[in-house]
Amino acid sequence: MTGEPILEVRDLCVDYGLGDRAVRAITDASLTLHRGEVLGLAGESGSGKSTLAYALTRLLRAPGVITGGEVRFHGRDGSLDLLAADAAALRRVRWNQISVVFQSAMHALDPVARIDAQLTDALRAHRSGLTAEQRTGRAVELLRLVGIDADRLRSYPHELSGGMRQRVMIAMALALDPEIVVMDEPTTALDVVTQREILTELMRLKDELGFAVVFITHDLSLLVELADTIAIMYAGRLVERGPARELFEGPRHPYTVGLLDSFPALHGERVRMEGIPGSPPALTALPTGCSFHPRCPFALERCAVDFPPTATPAGGSAVRLAACWLHEGGRELPAPLARSLGSTL
Ligand code: SF4
Repeated sequence: MTGEPILEVRDLCVDYGLGDRAVRAITDASLTLHRGEVLGLAGESGSGKSTLAYALTRLLRAPGVITGGEVRFHGRDGSLDLLAADAAALRRVRWNQISVVFQSAMHALDPVARIDAQLTDALRAHRSGLTAEQRTGRAVELLRLVGIDADRLRSYPHELSGGMRQRVMIAMALALDPEIVVMDEPTTALDVVTQREILTELMRLKDELGFAVVFITHDLSLLVELADTIAIMYAGRLVERGPARELFEGPRHPYTVGLLDSFPALHGERVRMEGIPGSPPALTALPTGCSFHPRCPFALERCAVDFPPTATPAGGSAVRLAACWLHEGGRELPAPLARSLGSTL
């Protein structure tokens, strides 16, 4: 169940580099994250999903530069224009209200610091009123929250399994009771059993604590179970967006169809995976028109010239959007895009 908007993003643009050598990494991205919602950002490597997630939470590092747009964060302390916020305002928001679970816990955790020190660091920096004893108490509570015994507090990261390290990362991200947690492929490096355990745990915590999630993954099939809403990215643009199940059951963009065809179905007959021919374009050499046209089996003549507007496709709910010329003028859709809802799962 999701609530009021907590993050509103309009026409966000991001470049890598400055001046003549800058390349456009994100173009005119608009989306809204609601309280308690899981928003999945999916796409192939290099599609811009991590860049978008880090830009909209002002966690983007150089050479990434936000060059336009608007991001409003409606936190518990009021509304804040994140793009205009100064360093002090951002410090108050980061970890307190918006936190991150990074992809590789082994690289994100300090290898020479014990788990208790790493957990209490954030508390010391952001909750100066807490005593050492209270910080340790909170660290124990956080470990328990993610299913780790308190006797692991004095362990070093290398003494924990990959799954436990990732749980510690989640505990750190939740330490200050954030309102938004960005999860950047948090379980990619783990085996499928551990992945499932951790994701189940995460969803339980989200329901219990009420934070919203921006979940980045290249694995679209993962999002059908996790996400409320899915946004598909290609070459730095949001090309399709909609409620998770609706998008799975009736994709309306050829790229989404290709992504879905790259993963085996959960049920039904075994079929050969089609995948998507070719590779995503380099940001330095984006095709003209719709960036997907060199790989698109349904490309029209104008696709190589003009980028399609983002619009609600026929038959989709009001919050459903796709950027594809095939939806213009009520033309008949090719079969994979004409799937009616409820026909594929
Ligand atoms: Fe394919 Fe054209 Fe749609 Fe792009 S706009 S996805 S090239 S049909």
